Amino acid sequence: MNLFLDQALLPELLTCEQAGRYRVRKTLSSAQQVCVIADGRALCNFSSNDYLGLAADPRLAKAMVRAADQYGVGSGSAHLVSGHSKEHHALEEELADFVGAERALLFSTGYMANLGVITALVGRGDAIVEDKLNHASLLDGGRLSGAAFSRFIHNDLESLTRQLQAASARRKLVAVDSVFSMDGDLAPLPSLATLCRQQQAFLMVDDAHGLGVLGSRGRGILDATELGFDAVPIYMGTLGKALGSFGAFVAGSHTLIESLIQFARSYIYTTALPPAVAAASRASLSILREDSAPREMLQARITLFKTLAGQAGLPLLESSTAIQPLLLGGEARTMAIANGLYQRGFWVGAIRPPTVPVGSSRLRITLTAGHSEQAIRALVDALVIEMANYDQQH
Ligand SMILES: *Cc1c(COP(=O)(O)O)cnc(C)c1O
Repeated sequence: MNLFLDQALLPELLTCEQAGRYRVRKTLSSAQQVCVIADGRALCNFSSNDYLGLAADPRLAKAMVRAADQYGVGSGSAHLVSGHSKEHHALEEELADFVGAERALLFSTGYMANLGVITALVGRGDAIVEDKLNHASLLDGGRLSGAAFSRFIHNDLESLTRQLQAASARRKLVAVDSVFSMDGDLAPLPSLATLCRQQQAFLMVDDAHGLGVLGSRGRGILDATELGFDAVPIYMGTLGKALGSFGAFVAGSHTLIESLIQFARSYIYTTALPPAVAAASRASLSILREDSAPREMLQARITLFKTLAGQAGLPLLESSTAIQPLLLGGEARTMAIANGLYQRGFWVGAIRPPTVPVGSSRLRITLTAGHSEQAIRALVDALVIEMANYDQQH
């Protein structure tokens, strides 16, 4: 143990703890599904992004096992060295076809895809403009790029217009989440596309929470808004959420993808995903194409939760997606209510700064196709009781 290092780190940890922002993990001993065992306790899980219940689907596991038998586990190297397998290649072609793009390129994670795209497309002399509530990976990509980086007020087109007009840059890139991950609301993509065309800016959308859920067959935000790649030329989707697998991709024109292969450092300098993981993602895509029942079920669950929570007077944010945040304000109140729910057997994410702005701590309730009507009713009842308990005592 290096005491010198520990002494340097401890004060920050203490400050974090005193602010009610200390984070701890629960350890799962079951698959990722609606009823899980976490830290040895049976919980009803309202905190995963496995919206369609595909993470533990045996069809994905079978595809993975079959591919592992053929390819083994490790890909052995980066895509540009010798790690690009037939499973990766087929998945890229199927993803491009699914979202209606010329080409798609696999990345190991969504975080890396966002870093890679932004740093490959803009740099010194350029401008990157992002929504204030964008996912951390888009914001980090903006900072890392070396381009002039600014953020506009959430979903505010006037604010974006001002930033774009102020930017004197060779290239201008605008990046937004399609579904904001901590708020559940949607970006006004058609208006953004019009504005970007007028201002000669490139528009990038991160569809991590839209792919698999929005649009026909879950083809994502572009399908849902009837926008093409002429309007939104840079599309990022992840495979670890609704698709229940792991990884991410960028879709767009042949030229975009070739540029990323040459210049996206988080693509070039990292080991390719295991081929068996790509095989699992392929199985997931074919399930999406064939079976719309889980998506319809999810929609019914969202509607039920919103109706019940509305009747109970719970402080829901404006969201029509599977992400249903309950705004509670302070860290202490949020943690106390989340812990109360945990004692009652519900696992709900407590989201605090710095993930969200100070004073807007919240419970992030996520609904999935597998939640029973009874579980949703029980959650709303428990929320009402726990909020009343806390507020009585404080
Ligand atoms: C989860 C998420 C990512 C990161 O994707 P990973 O594959 O988990 O790294 C990027 N953007 C948004 C909006 C996300 O919610």
